[in-house]
Amino acid sequence: MNAIHRLCLVLGDQLSFDLASLKGLDTERDTVLLVEVMEEASHVPHHPQKITLIFSAMRHFAKALQQQGIRVQYVALDDPQNTGSVPSELRRWESLMQPDELHMTECGDWRLEQSLKDCGLQIQWHVDTRFLCTRAEFSSWAKDKKQLRMEFFYREMRRKSGLLINGDGSPVGGAWNFDAENRKALPKGVIAPYPARFSADSITQEVLALVGERFSSHYGSLDAFDYPVTHVDAQALWDYFLDYGLAGFGDYQDAMASDEPFLFHARISAALNIGLLDVRQLCSDVESAYLSGRIALNAAEGFIRQLIGWREYVRGVYWLKMPDYASGNVFGNSRPLPEFYWTGETTINCMRQAIGQSLKHAYAHHIQRLMVTGNFALLAGIAPSQVCEWYLAIYMDAFDWVELPNTLGMVMHADGGYLGSKPYCASGQYIKRMSDYCRGCAYKVSESTTDDACPFNSLYWHFLMRHSTILRSNQRMGMVYKNLERMPESKQQALWQRGQTLLAKLDAGESL
Ligand code: FAD
Ligand code: SF4
Repeated sequence: MNAIHRLCLVLGDQLSFDLASLKGLDTERDTVLLVEVMEEASHVPHHPQKITLIFSAMRHFAKALQQQGIRVQYVALDDPQNTGSVPSELRRWESLMQPDELHMTECGDWRLEQSLKDCGLQIQWHVDTRFLCTRAEFSSWAKDKKQLRMEFFYREMRRKSGLLINGDGSPVGGAWNFDAENRKALPKGVIAPYPARFSADSITQEVLALVGERFSSHYGSLDAFDYPVTHVDAQALWDYFLDYGLAGFGDYQDAMASDEPFLFHARISAALNIGLLDVRQLCSDVESAYLSGRIALNAAEGFIRQLIGWREYVRGVYWLKMPDYASGNVFGNSRPLPEFYWTGETTINCMRQAIGQSLKHAYAHHIQRLMVTGNFALLAGIAPSQVCEWYLAIYMDAFDWVELPNTLGMVMHADGGYLGSKPYCASGQYIKRMSDYCRGCAYKVSESTTDDACPFNSLYWHFLMRHSTILRSNQRMGMVYKNLERMPESKQQALWQRGQTLLAKLDAGESL
């Protein structure tokens, strides 16, 4: 029998039964500790649904561990002894239980991991094996590369996992990436399935009441909470998507539609990020769906790329570059985040739709985050730290390792192009092509310089003009700058002027 008494601290995003630090637990002598703490719930104003998800999933996980005979100490938020932070709770329990060893799996947040490393306790750290690529493997892949590219990393992950790989090592279908087929707008008459919903059991109801009372000042509504909080329900969400959503994922991955918050997206990111789903199993299910002829290759490859390409890549960049990465601001932006990001009160219809559903469901899909709210923040020159705080707070799936590189790198290009080769900037024409938002908008997407012109149009050119010193030399921006040069001087001036007017309104605290 194991003679060592271990205390294993499990965080709210580590709710996996096969978590590295939980391996080999001795049910007689070891204890698992889970703590709900105010510091983690409020260091940014997290959406109340996100706090509900995490606390409820933690409580369900603790119960499931106990049912397996494992000893668990659970500290609820309103426990009078609760000291309010993860390190202080670990210190308290270490002193109460006097374990021989403290065990943890590496964190998803640099700030928290650092504070635990600095808290004066000797912790035995375990590599987070829930990811395909370890921090060390990523750093060795990135070594000596001036610029990283997701596409090359993704190919490595395909080879490593064997997903959609032929016997001779070549990619199934003869290409690594079928993204060009994944850019269709939603045609009339195509109806997307609403993802599976889950009603609140007594544990979740208790948490909803607690969160409603303690976090009423945070933005976002609790009313629509219908998310899975157990492994079984998360699996049901996934199974439903496999049956009804995945086939449409490829074609309509980039589409947006009014009052359609989810379209053909899986809505699994939050469950996956906290450990209720397993990335290898998800990818294997998608591959099987393709091999059995249930879905097309562009849907299967596209989905697998998001999981073993983008998801692992952004995590690798985060751990490679933190803590300096968080302060990147290559354009020197300092404009405060407009208030309407927190309220949705704007006449810009695409923003109202994307922000409105984010407040209601703590969810927006990738293109809404990238090409609507993110694009606006980039074009309007908002301070990256404030944009990052908003994304971290508002989305149910937001954890620092995944939110920060997506926002600061992919959206704001604030890392100078380390993560992505060019900024994802676009005018209103892109939003018009990929959605029906412009039809219900107070602004005209066909206009650029009039008082009722789509704000994205002039702000797009304003952005390119104001940052030409940095961006003109980027080969991938060459065509755009050629178009700008060909534009008559008077048009350029009118665009600049309209952009100035819009930015002045933001600076005056007015909504658009
Ligand atoms: P689907 O569209 O169905 O995609 C399937 C899965 O692929 C997702 O569940 C997710 O796990 C993974 N995935 C897809 N794209 C990415 C990506 N770029 N990075 C990491 N994983 C990806 N995702 C988060 O999980 N947490 C975040 O905090 C987060 N912040 C983002 C911020 C910005 C500015 C942008 C542009 C993207 C962000 N993403 C984030 C990525 C992506 O938007 C979400 O993963 C996705 O919208 C989740 O919805 P879904 O489960 O329906 O995904
Ligand atoms: Fe958005 Fe412009 Fe379309 Fe309005 S017109 S919905 S602001 S892209």
